[in-house]
Amino acid sequence: MKTNCLKASVTGMMILFMLPSCATKKTEGTYPIQPVSFTSVKLTDKFWAPRIQTNFDVTIPIAIGECYNTGRVDNFKIAGNLMEGKFCTEYPFDDTDIYKLIEAASYSLQTIPDAQLEARLDTLIQYVGLAQEPDGYLYTNRTIDSVHTHPWAGNKRWMNDPDLSHELYNSGHLFEAAVAHYQATGKKALLDIAIKNADLLVKDFGWDKLHIYPGHQVVEMGLVKMYNVTGKKEYLELAKFFLDVRGPGGDEYNQAHKKVIDQTEPVGHAVRATYMYSGMADIAAIYGDTSYFNAASRIWENLVTQKTYITGGIGSGGGNEGFDPPYVLPNMSAYCETCASVGNIFWNQRMFLHDGDGKYYDVLERTLYNSLLSGVSLSGDRFFYPNVLESFGQHQRSAWFGCACCPPNIARLLPSLPGYIYATTEKDIYINLFIGNTAKFAFDGSEIEIIQKTDYPWEGLVEITINPPETKAFALKIRIPGWARNEVLPGNLYTFNDALSSKAVLKVNGKTIALKTDKGFVTLNRKWKKGDKITIELPMDVRKITADKRVAADKGKIAIERGPLMYCAEWPYAKDGRVLNLLFDEKADFTPVFLDTLLNGVEVVKTTARLAKYNLQKEVEKGDPQEIILIPYYAWNNKGAGEMAVWLPVSDSSVKPLPAPTIASKSKISASTPTKALMSVNDQYDPKNSIDRDWPYYHWWPKNNSWEWIQYTFESETTVSSAEVYWFDDGPFGGCRIPDKWVIEYRSGSSWQPVKAKGDYSIAKDSWNTIAFEPVKTNAMRLKVKLPEKFSAGVHEWVVE
Ligand SMILES: [Zn+2]
Repeated sequence: MKTNCLKASVTGMMILFMLPSCATKKTEGTYPIQPVSFTSVKLTDKFWAPRIQTNFDVTIPIAIGECYNTGRVDNFKIAGNLMEGKFCTEYPFDDTDIYKLIEAASYSLQTIPDAQLEARLDTLIQYVGLAQEPDGYLYTNRTIDSVHTHPWAGNKRWMNDPDLSHELYNSGHLFEAAVAHYQATGKKALLDIAIKNADLLVKDFGWDKLHIYPGHQVVEMGLVKMYNVTGKKEYLELAKFFLDVRGPGGDEYNQAHKKVIDQTEPVGHAVRATYMYSGMADIAAIYGDTSYFNAASRIWENLVTQKTYITGGIGSGGGNEGFDPPYVLPNMSAYCETCASVGNIFWNQRMFLHDGDGKYYDVLERTLYNSLLSGVSLSGDRFFYPNVLESFGQHQRSAWFGCACCPPNIARLLPSLPGYIYATTEKDIYINLFIGNTAKFAFDGSEIEIIQKTDYPWEGLVEITINPPETKAFALKIRIPGWARNEVLPGNLYTFNDALSSKAVLKVNGKTIALKTDKGFVTLNRKWKKGDKITIELPMDVRKITADKRVAADKGKIAIERGPLMYCAEWPYAKDGRVLNLLFDEKADFTPVFLDTLLNGVEVVKTTARLAKYNLQKEVEKGDPQEIILIPYYAWNNKGAGEMAVWLPVSDSSVKPLPAPTIASKSKISASTPTKALMSVNDQYDPKNSIDRDWPYYHWWPKNNSWEWIQYTFESETTVSSAEVYWFDDGPFGGCRIPDKWVIEYRSGSSWQPVKAKGDYSIAKDSWNTIAFEPVKTNAMRLKVKLPEKFSAGVHEWVVE
């Protein structure tokens, strides 16, 4: 359960005047490896190009429309004296949605020129410019009314930034948008606004000025981009300052608990974290500073080997929107915020640009095709904030969010994808992703053309044509994905259960080349001439994956992968819509079939599974094998809400049988606060303990100190003489505790009467609480619960007999 999308944290602001602890030698700043810009690559494929088109046709217009409808644009107009009024949205960081959409639209204009959209951006940029104060300050909330600011903003510029003001967060997104808009259109209007704002930051922050660290990181990355286009070294130095001034002694929530170079594992809010690690990778690469890179590497190793979902999603906890302890990767309550996938993609590309290791692209590709892509519907108009790996139907994409960080973030990531495919050094060209495209870019003094043709991720065949203007010697480095080398992710968090039926095959002009990989890349060092052709054939077997046994949520289960895509079982493709009570058979056939009319065309995997159910003796009965189609995970929830699972039970101990037809399971349930989770109280799940979050539970949060109830209405008059309850209690950091009191009541005519209990009502954590009472014949019973004074309460299971 979460309070709001950006949890308040104890301020860790430091306004100390001291020298940097890690002064480094400055070198001329550039990445050892340069990405080939999105402006040089045109996608021609059938998988991503249509998605970028939908992003352009549907997502961006909807999101810009929402910015107008919700007052986000008005905030700029009011701050710029174009209209009168008060700050009219919920959060002071709402300015950033406009910046992100300008960025999104800018990338899109490269692929899909559109004069009308360009004009809309010009209008928005004009409003942004008018809202900027003369000295460059840009934060509509304070400019509109510097006395009655938002409670998060504080009464003085910058002072609340380590906590909640998000002033530097707003600046960071402004910088990213300005650079993208300038690169895409050549127009300088937004860049000039951004330069004025960045110059103000340079004037206000530094070792001999304000010592304040950004509460929500992103300004570090933004300043590096500003440095890249303007060449102004002071921006780079300020980015480094914002990293160095952070910690120790602050909150883990925003990674201020230690100096950044001393950090060893991902903690706290996942979006803040990945944005900060991206900034660290930038500084590491540009300054050639190993202390940043070593820290970023340690954190990365830890994340990939202990805290990453099989979908590439990260940040399992909803309470902090971030990281849990190692191996805590619950599926149904997985948070995996869409923005955290965006941040993880940013970070992994930067780590790659530092040392050219393909392992970063293995993570990036897994995240891109699975956890990120699930964030938006196939229609482009519905969005997930968390991206769970299991559902009983309580999850559904939304049209928009009050805290709207995710839709504009995916809207800007998708059209920037052309910028992730290639990279170069002076003498090498890297091919990192397999996506049909035509690229033309400057390389070693002339323009080279590369054409990729492929039906990836459905097919493993990739054809690449190299067209240098004249015969030229250089090394072409082609990434062989980890999954094609029998490695799910670097490390042993996940392993393939089976061997590949064949190895990847690579040919140059029809001649097979021995496949030797180094850091995940095959290096083809030769004299390239116009029309040289490379073909790569990747083995597209259906693979079965097991998680490390320390991941309790995945015990006794397998996940199915083909190429870079994870698969899931979902209700529309299973008998009676039931997925969560199925027992799969690892030895059954898992057959891939392309269905071009389903979900815009997807390769599905056909297999069989058996329905498990309890009988009245509490024994598990298994039905006959029934056919089920597994679909790519990214495409789930496009046919309405219902059951879904990525991890499929293959053992009796991990399957969750359908409840037996007991009094409780046949009852109609209602409650004082009805939610979808109510159906979990009579599903015959036996919790491991009160904090068990692997399976749904019902709770009354955020209510407290009140009497609440759950009601079973029976099919007919029934005699009942005992009840058992298992309480939900999410421990010292959660909002639910065992209740103060509880009582069982039955309906007698039109009134509710307490049962005559034989003994006291026990209220224990981590166990069943049983009460026997004098038998009553009734058509309905209530579990009445008195919530603690300062906490709420919840119920895993309520049984009546
Ligand atoms: Zn988000």
